[in-house]
Amino acid sequence: MSKSTEFQLVKGRVFADLGLYERVSGLYDGQWLAGEGRRRIAVHSPINGERLAEVAVADEEDYSRLIERAWMSFAEWSLVPAPKRGEVVREIGDRLREYVDTLGLLVSLEVGKTPVEGKGEVQEMIDIADFAVGLSRQLYGKTIASERQHHRLFEQWHPHGVVGVITAFNFPCAVWSWNAFIAAVIGNVVVWKPSPNGALTAIAITNIVNEVLDEQGLPALFFVAVDGAGEIGRLMSSDRKLPLLSFTGSVRTGREVAARVGERIGRSILELGGNNAAIVTPDADMEIALRGVAFGALATAAQRCTTTRRLILHESLFDSLLPRLIEAYRSVRVGSPLEPGVLVGPLISGRAVESYSSAIGRAEASGGRVLVGNSVLALPGLEGGNYVAPTLIDGLAPDSEIVCEETFAPILYVLSYSDLEEAFAIHNCVPQGLSSSIFSNNLREVEAFLSVVGSDCGLANVNAGTAGAEIGGAFGGEKDTGGGRESGSDAWKAYARRQTVTVNYGDELPLAQGVTFDVN
Ligand code: NAD
Repeated sequence: MSKSTEFQLVKGRVFADLGLYERVSGLYDGQWLAGEGRRRIAVHSPINGERLAEVAVADEEDYSRLIERAWMSFAEWSLVPAPKRGEVVREIGDRLREYVDTLGLLVSLEVGKTPVEGKGEVQEMIDIADFAVGLSRQLYGKTIASERQHHRLFEQWHPHGVVGVITAFNFPCAVWSWNAFIAAVIGNVVVWKPSPNGALTAIAITNIVNEVLDEQGLPALFFVAVDGAGEIGRLMSSDRKLPLLSFTGSVRTGREVAARVGERIGRSILELGGNNAAIVTPDADMEIALRGVAFGALATAAQRCTTTRRLILHESLFDSLLPRLIEAYRSVRVGSPLEPGVLVGPLISGRAVESYSSAIGRAEASGGRVLVGNSVLALPGLEGGNYVAPTLIDGLAPDSEIVCEETFAPILYVLSYSDLEEAFAIHNCVPQGLSSSIFSNNLREVEAFLSVVGSDCGLANVNAGTAGAEIGGAFGGEKDTGGGRESGSDAWKAYARRQTVTVNYGDELPLAQGVTFDVN
């Protein structure tokens, strides 16, 4: 069977199962907006450049109506007891279980992940749904000892109202669910602006979620507005009717979003780009290090925010570990993610391929030496796809401009260190601070890495790669990565407003700090 036929078969099956068509609406405001007469964007598959569908996008008027309706839903939803809200999220998680395979394949078609990674993303949604169900019974506030007699002092957490979620292309399902399910059990209503490159996945998920809400006679809780070039994203950033905006994307766009939200003194959760490094010391288990670095640097075609982009390798390992890594880079199969055995799929767009080539050019101009890779690939039967050869480069200064940037493509810079202090200095010299890892079995090295002089990132992994976080921990990074936290642990608090409550149940009015204020 030709690659094109196989692609069409998969597309047909996925579209039929998920209720997608060649022309779909990209605005859900309680109902799907009719597409006639509206601007449309085309969604192409990075696998072969084929047009998957056309999506009608929202304009400013549509957006205003959507926000109004979302607040109407909030009035109802916020009064539902939290554990009952959890029940609804449980049903949604169960329904998603029925669609793991096809939704995972849609992720493959739309953003080029391998089916196992696409499925993993859907699994992550299910996991976070389970987490949110538990959380719906654990939205605790503290009781604090009051200094005044017959007074009770405590904290409670209320929903913000309507919460905006803007997501990047590279996690078209999971990141929305990290935000949406946690926000929903707290009592918020969610407005999602997905990446145009993940629009079909967003539409399919909304269809699945709506099945559950309709069955339960609930109002719309998960709204969607697709745009073409950030128009709706800009409206959301400036909109005072979104007290909280969670933004996942590049540092460049995040800066603009942060400025707009800051201007209106709103709250934001910023999950921006990373520039993650793995340190490999002579005391590492080399098999684990090799696999951990290869997975971290190559999985999802290096289009994860947590992708390993810098390998900080002890100078003594350049003759042993590095040749093995070069070999792994040579042998890894690049191609259509629908083909068995392929580990590295396409980049999301032609622009991403250009930034790959340009970064390599800049690295070479700065003294970098390409060890393997540096090739844009024209694969038979996949001519419209965006394929590149995974590339290793050494010889660059750790603080050179190109090494300090996040290039969203499979390029790994290999940097040399001689002592651990130097490794940490190299590690921390980039502006981003998302994920980090050390491969070592030496307790002192590991603990130093985890100490205040070690990794300055939001995620620090030991003998595990920089990529592949679990949902139970709070996820996010420091410095230019934005400081936001999503997903597990107590990250839920960002989706709620804290209220400190004082109740005087006595028959006097004592004031705090012993202040007296007698008016008669
Ligand atoms: P991007 O910044 O180009 O786009 C992100 C989102 O912002 C998209 O939905 C886009 O349509 C929207 N957008 C564009 N212009 C906007 C504007 N002016 N105002 C508001 N929204 C606007 O990022 P991308 O290419 O889709 O994704 C890759 C980037 O996302 C990488 O930098 C990656 O590291 C980062 N990322 C970070 C995390 C994290 O958790 N830290 C997770 C995934 C991706």
